[in-house]
Amino acid sequence: MKTYDAVIIGGGPAGMTAALYMLRAEASVAFVEKLSPGGQMLMTHKIDNYPGYPDGVEGWKLADAMAAHLDKYNLDRYNDEVNCIEPGEEAHRVRVGQEWIAGKTVILCTGAKYRPLGLPNEKHLVGKGVSYCALCDGNFFRDQVVAVVGGGDSALEESLYLAKLVKKLYLVHRREDFRAQKCYQDSCAVNPVIQIVRSSIVTAITGQDKVEGVVVENVKTGEIKEIEVDGVFIFVGYQPHGDFFPPEIDQDAQGFIMTGPDMSTNIPGLYAAGDIRSKHCRQVTTAVGDGACAAHAAIAYLEKKFGAKG
Ligand code: NAP
Repeated sequence: MKTYDAVIIGGGPAGMTAALYMLRAEASVAFVEKLSPGGQMLMTHKIDNYPGYPDGVEGWKLADAMAAHLDKYNLDRYNDEVNCIEPGEEAHRVRVGQEWIAGKTVILCTGAKYRPLGLPNEKHLVGKGVSYCALCDGNFFRDQVVAVVGGGDSALEESLYLAKLVKKLYLVHRREDFRAQKCYQDSCAVNPVIQIVRSSIVTAITGQDKVEGVVVENVKTGEIKEIEVDGVFIFVGYQPHGDFFPPEIDQDAQGFIMTGPDMSTNIPGLYAAGDIRSKHCRQVTTAVGDGACAAHAAIAYLEKKFGAKG
C-alpha cells in the first residue's frame, strides 16, 4: 500500500489549495477527485466576489486556473470515489474505489451537495422539470416559466442568472426577509422577469411525467394557490457530501465536520476544509482559506510527529 504525506479528498477550491500548499512544502500528495477538479465552481455561472476579478469570473474559468496552477507540481491523482477511511496511529488508510492508500495526514474537502425539499414526487420529476442547478439546466427553460425555491445566496444569485433565459420566474421564499446578500436582493427586486412570492412554501409539485406547476401556501394567510410553471429550481441549502467519514469523527447536527481554527478534527492527522466543515460562511474565498490553513497545520503535524516531512 502506497503511503503519502497527505491524502487530499475532494478537488474543489479547498482541496486544490490544500494540495498546492502541501506540494510547495515538498510533501507527497495523493489527490482524490471523482470527476474534474472544480467542485461547485463548475456549476456556478459567475463568481463575482472572488478578489482580483472586478467583473466577476465564470466558475469554470476560476476552476481551470486553479487546476492549471496545480499542474505545475507532481502529485498522484486518483479519479475514483472514496468509500472508507480507517484512522491509524502512524497513517490513516483510505479506500479509493477498490484500492487502499495511506496518508500520514488526510484532508477532507468533499464539500456539500444540494438539499432536496423532500416533496413526494420531487425525486420522480428530477430531469423532468425539477432541477438543483441553474447553469446545468437553465437552457432547457428558455422563454418558459419557472419557480425558484429558497431565500439564500444560491436562490437569488441563480434567479438572476435564470432571469436572463426565462420568460417569467417566481421566487418563492418561506419568510418575509431574505438571508441572501443585499446586492442580490436589490437586483432581484428590480428585475422585471422576477416575481417575489414571500412568506410562502411550496407544498406540492404537480405533473406526472413533467412539471406542470407548484402548489404554494402563504404561511401568514393560509391561502393556497397553484402556479403553472414548466420548471422548479430548488436552492434550500446544502448537506455534507460523503458518507465515508470515520464514525468517531465529530460532526454537528447537520453532519458537517467540526474543526478547530487550524482545520484539525478530533482525530489526529485528519483535517477538514471548505464547505464540508461546520462553519457560517461558505464561499470560494473561505474554502481557499480553509485549504491553506489545513495544509499549514498538516505540515506542522508531519514535522512534529515524523521529523522532516516525507
Ligand atoms: P442557505 O444560505 O442555507 O439558504 C437556504 C435557503 O433556503 C434559506 O433562505 C432557507 O430559508 C431556505 N430553506 C431551507 N429549507 C427550506 C425548506 N424546507 N423550504 C423552503 N425554504 C427552505 O443556502 P444557500 O443559499 O445554498 O447557500 C449556502 C452557502 O453558500 C451560504 O453560506 C451562502 O452564503 C454561500 N453562497 C454564496 C454565494 C455567493 O457569495 N455568491 C453564492 C451561493 C452560495 P430561511 O432563510 O427561512 O432559513
